[in-house]
Amino acid sequence: YIIMYVEKQIVLKRTSQENTMQTLKKFIKYYKPYKAVFFIDLLCATIISAIDLAFPQLLRTLTKTLFAGAPGKIVSALIPITIGLLVAYIIQTACRYYVTYAGHMMGARMERDMRKELFDQYEKLSFSYYDQNNSGQMMSKLVSDLFDISELAHHGPENLFISLIKIIGSFIFLFMINRMLAVPMLILVVLMLVFSYGQNKKMQETFMDNRRKIGDINSSLQDTLAGIRVVQSFANERIEQEKFNRSNENFLISKDANYRCMGSFMSGNAFFQGMMYLVTLVFGGFLIAHGRMEASDLAMYALYIGIFISPIQILVELTEMMQKGLSGFRRFLEVVETEPDIVDAADAKPLKNVKGNVCYEDVSFHYSDDDTSVLSHVSFEIPAGKSIALVGPSGSGKTTICSLLPRFYDVTEGRVTIDGNDVRKLTLESLRSQIGLVSQDVYLFGGSIKDNIAYGKPDATMDEIVDAAKKANIHDFIMELPDKYDTFVGERGTRLSGGQKQRISIARVFLKNPPVLILDEATSALDNESERFIQKSLEELAKDRTTITIAHRLSTIRNADEILVVADCGIAERGTHEELLAQDGIYARYYDMSR
Ligand code: ADP
Ligand code: MG
Repeated sequence: YIIMYVEKQIVLKRTSQENTMQTLKKFIKYYKPYKAVFFIDLLCATIISAIDLAFPQLLRTLTKTLFAGAPGKIVSALIPITIGLLVAYIIQTACRYYVTYAGHMMGARMERDMRKELFDQYEKLSFSYYDQNNSGQMMSKLVSDLFDISELAHHGPENLFISLIKIIGSFIFLFMINRMLAVPMLILVVLMLVFSYGQNKKMQETFMDNRRKIGDINSSLQDTLAGIRVVQSFANERIEQEKFNRSNENFLISKDANYRCMGSFMSGNAFFQGMMYLVTLVFGGFLIAHGRMEASDLAMYALYIGIFISPIQILVELTEMMQKGLSGFRRFLEVVETEPDIVDAADAKPLKNVKGNVCYEDVSFHYSDDDTSVLSHVSFEIPAGKSIALVGPSGSGKTTICSLLPRFYDVTEGRVTIDGNDVRKLTLESLRSQIGLVSQDVYLFGGSIKDNIAYGKPDATMDEIVDAAKKANIHDFIMELPDKYDTFVGERGTRLSGGQKQRISIARVFLKNPPVLILDEATSALDNESERFIQKSLEELAKDRTTITIAHRLSTIRNADEILVVADCGIAERGTHEELLAQDGIYARYYDMSR
């Protein structure tokens, strides 16, 4: 049993190593555009370390040869030595500048590339992804996780390289100077590495915990800020404070563990460093006493210890940086490698010269995460330019029916067509550009009113924008504002009333001028007066377009060419207003209630 357990652990370890290798491989791909910078960076790093390593050796040689000779010779030799060293240090300075500047820029460029890829991916991911994922988390992936990656991208290979050169180089020289003293040094270094590695592992654990705690703080903050109006209206600031304090305190606790590890790591390393000097002095003294070593070489030893000790620390810190960066990179991969549910089919064609015949053929649908059917075998047709209305209790699937047309979700069975084309065989962009959607919750972007209306047609002229605003009955209101069309609307349009926001969103659709229109409870959030106001704009908008209207006030849909009553996953009744009243079924009952 124990053997089986051990075997299992080994397999687990191996797969996790393979995973790391795969992740690294994917990571290396991002270096590709910057290959030249990368190799120049490594070359510069080599030069920097070589010059550092050469100095003690030069000092040693000079002490033994030149400085032991005649004073006149020394003085005349100082000039070429000065020039030589000056050139070497100028080269080193230039290299260091390149490493710091170009190396960091390479990391930043890679970060930008990944961020762009992530953003593009976020835009591609479909509604079903957003149904299940938290936007605060997504934000932290885009912003903070990727920062760790760029640090790793730049410092990772370079530090590895510099440290290895310095450590190996130092030891070659140590062995050259005195073999017998080098051996205990090597043993000490190995011990130090083992100690550091153990400490580092502990640090990594606390570090991962840190990240999680920061994530909690972020999502708590995001939640409170997004809902700040609800928080204040319920006077629940205290509750939010407590929630926030909890995650904030947890962060502190996690940091405490983190810094404890860091403390023993740092002090432990310093202790080993002290031991190296101790061994050098005592064992060196012993060797000198026995005539096995020259006193001047002892100083060289101390110099080389100074050179290789910091690379060991850097090397150890590198493993931490790698964990940090790679865990961020994994989170990045998780998103980037998610296949969006809804993409253009390989043979997708653009939708052109749209007439607007919309047809639902035997459509069934359920949302991916649960299997309860929302629609089953729904069929209806809207001839071009005609209008239908969907009525039915809340939660019966009216919005869902509408979401299938612009492919926010794909049907589970059956098909939805426009002018006889299955929507899944059309390019998403051409399909969605032909459909206008006005829904209950309006989203306005931070920016001017003009920009928000122009969102329906980014290259619209000012005249077109004003024309659309007039049709949406919002022009007069805009002209009363201090900055008119340049008036800034807050984030989500908080500076406007519900009716005003709705009319701006209607103006947007006027500007877009699509042949197919979906009005999903466009007026439900409004009071009677603004509803009446907007109703006129909507009727104007719906003229000569294929229109699906969802409205809970039945008075607004009596003129629809056909009314469908949605209930029990399907269409329970259909007909014109008069026909449905005559049927004396669900619709007739609704109509009686609403009067
Ligand atoms: P209506 O617009 O008629 O009020 P919906 O079409 O919004 O109803 O919702 C129909 C059903 O589908 C409801 O039971 C609702 O809970 C469910 N539903 C709506 N949106 C989602 C979603 N994104 N994920 C899972 N279930 C959903
Ligand atoms: Mg709805």
